[in-house]
Amino acid sequence: MHFQFDDRLNSFRQEVRDFVAANLPAHIVNRQRHKSFAPDDLHTAEWQAILHKNGWSVPGWPLEYGGTGWSPLQQFVFNDECAAADAPVFPWGPRDMVGPIIYTFGSDYLKETFLPMIREGRHYWCQGFSEPGSGSDLASLRTTAVRQGDSYIVNGQKIWTSGAAVAKWGFFLVKTDTSGKPQQGISFLIIDMSTPGISVRPIQQMDGDDHLCEVFLDNVAVPVEHLVGEEGKGWTYAKDLLDHERTGSSYIFWNKRELAKAREIASSETIDGIAVIDSEPFRSRLARIEAQLTALEWSVLRMLADEQTPWHPSALASCLKVRGAQLQQSITDLQMQAMGRKSLRFIAPQQMADFPVSTLWPDYLVGKTSVALITRAATIYGGTLQIQRTIIAKMAFGV
Ligand SMILES: Cc1cc2nc3c(=O)[nH]c(=O)nc-3n(C[C@H](O)[C@H](O)[C@H](O)COP(=O)(O)OP(=O)(O)OC[C@H]3O[C@@H](n4cnc5c(N)ncnc54)[C@H](O)[C@@H]3O)c2cc1C
Repeated sequence: MHFQFDDRLNSFRQEVRDFVAANLPAHIVNRQRHKSFAPDDLHTAEWQAILHKNGWSVPGWPLEYGGTGWSPLQQFVFNDECAAADAPVFPWGPRDMVGPIIYTFGSDYLKETFLPMIREGRHYWCQGFSEPGSGSDLASLRTTAVRQGDSYIVNGQKIWTSGAAVAKWGFFLVKTDTSGKPQQGISFLIIDMSTPGISVRPIQQMDGDDHLCEVFLDNVAVPVEHLVGEEGKGWTYAKDLLDHERTGSSYIFWNKRELAKAREIASSETIDGIAVIDSEPFRSRLARIEAQLTALEWSVLRMLADEQTPWHPSALASCLKVRGAQLQQSITDLQMQAMGRKSLRFIAPQQMADFPVSTLWPDYLVGKTSVALITRAATIYGGTLQIQRTIIAKMAFGV
């Protein structure tokens, strides 16, 4: 296959590049370069508001809900350019997950209430799916929602809820019926995180951050209007979310950006007087990873270009997730290799913004060790690699 962007896409890329160069504030770029992996809600919201003014904040949504009408390849180019310029990587939750679920299955009330705030990036959202004992086997979740008058009364516990401590809204899977098959009684609720009865406990992570949380729900009253779609259909909607994550799960833009940074580090750092980029073992590892990333990018582009494939979409999504997660780890490992002994110095996320950069500690080194540690989780979140391989075996090979 010979893949090339045509003139139209190339001039679109230039338009996006010019817009980003003119409108992405320097303080946001600076912060992106000195931060850990966790989404930065304030700067993300600021960037989202800038994009919103230009009509670009929810590119993939249908036109009637504020989308751009761009083709999948245009959206790819847009995300590619934003990431390359160090724009905040969006928390996927609102834009790519709950937003599409609301405009596809939600009531007019939900559309009118939530779609504008998501478009404008007004609030941070969290995803309350996993529970202690219900991660890979999500259908076994035990948080209940019992209808009482105009409310659901929610009781239970969620865990690993990213950003729950700063989220204004959350989308949750709860059990509204425990009598049938596990998948059948699951419903999809939008919950205001400041509702009485919710308590959030951050979990200390090995990268020094604590954006993952436990969420306890104790007699939390949720208005019935906040049920998305039909009661008991939450499992179907949650599976639909995965389709929206299909190409995002490859982390392609993040991987490209971080590989470019690995090159930058290796070109500047020396070991025993030799630039790391000139050392043979480093170069061959870099070449191997670059080839894998290019192959992944082309696979994503082939999907977006709608090239016919006999594979089931879930199997393709799982393939992208496996490769994307492995590359996140090998690219951050490569950065550690390029940093040599300096990678042993751990700078906590709280110290990154004010870290005194110097010739010895240039800004491209700040935060890298922390990010390398948190990317160990890339093969767990969004579904572990073992689970993805089982999906590939079933859906692609019928095993
Ligand atoms: C950084 C991070 C962020 C996260 N963010 C969120 C979030 O915002 N919201 C949310 O709801 N969840 C979130 N999660 C949770 C995540 O979805 C779960 O951790 C994941 O689904 C795995 O579930 P588990 O941790 O319960 O592990 P388990 O399901 O207990 O798995 C433990 C091990 O057993 C293996 N295993 C389990 N079942 C099988 C099987 N059938 N076949 C083969 N091997 C199997 C797994 O692959 C894994 O190696 C996050 C997790 C991490 C690490």
